[in-house]
Amino acid sequence: MIQLDLTGQVAVVTGGSSGIGLATAELFLRAGAAVAICGRDNDRLARAERELRERHPQAQLLAARCDVLDAADVAAFAGAVEQRFGRADMLVNNAGQGRVSTFANTSDEAWREELDLKYFSIIRPTRAFLPMLRNAAKAGESAGNASIVCVNSLLALQPEPHMVATSSARAGVLSLIKSLAVELAPEHIRVNSILIGIVESGQWRRRYEADGQAQAAGQSWEDWTRELARKKHIPLGRFGRPEEAAQALFYLATSLSSYTTGSHIDVSGGVARHV
Ligand code: NDP
Repeated sequence: MIQLDLTGQVAVVTGGSSGIGLATAELFLRAGAAVAICGRDNDRLARAERELRERHPQAQLLAARCDVLDAADVAAFAGAVEQRFGRADMLVNNAGQGRVSTFANTSDEAWREELDLKYFSIIRPTRAFLPMLRNAAKAGESAGNASIVCVNSLLALQPEPHMVATSSARAGVLSLIKSLAVELAPEHIRVNSILIGIVESGQWRRRYEADGQAQAAGQSWEDWTRELARKKHIPLGRFGRPEEAAQALFYLATSLSSYTTGSHIDVSGGVARHV
């Protein structure tokens, strides 16, 4: 990993209490940035904060309860970041989860929920943190340090019928990110995303624990993920690790990618079929 000193910069990671978000917060702290994370569950948030503080006793860290779908929560989170750190340089829109459903079993309500989650988990934090990102971009000695990075999925380009609503929303979000990038480029705020395949994380752990057959057969997590990777024809033969997604997010959030905007990095282990 290239060493980068982010002392004095502030990174905000939504959904930073688990999986990819937590691994991303860790990378920013390691690079010396102040970090703010949020999530809905207080216990998970407290556990994440404890873990990060154990590894980084000097960390400038804010862990706040916030549901990114609640406008008041998001405004309060942005207010808390401003009060504590006085700025925000990098926003990682990571909070969320996928929905497994086919067209036949997705109700209108489920469609609305999914579109709401995928769009507003980006729209609300982006709107709330934009004033601080604008200030960071203006104050920056070199353009490229104010940025937004979104966690998106390869489903945006390669839809799966068993995740019809998620795939469709992911494609729309890819378009949103492109528009945002063009709109914010004159202000020197870059906007990019990562397209992930399957990454080991809280949501996959929960699916493993809910798989009655696997539990009854005493199948280990390692065997379960390996078997799924084989069934899903992942060329690299395994799930991704949260830190592998985090490294791509870190690259796109920081000045390492200062001439990149409106773009995305594929972190899918080779699953993408298009050229
Ligand atoms: P995890 O479940 O490990 O982490 C999700 C994080 O988001 C948690 O911190 C969770 O905390 C938080 N979160 C979820 N909903 C909200 C909300 N409404 N407001 C605030 N925080 C929220 O999963 P991943 O690390 O895998 O997920 C990270 C992102 O990657 C998600 O957007 C997911 O959809 C996406 N993704 C993941 C894939 C994978 O294979 N892992 C594949 C494709 C996309 P809490 O529940 O306490 O709120």
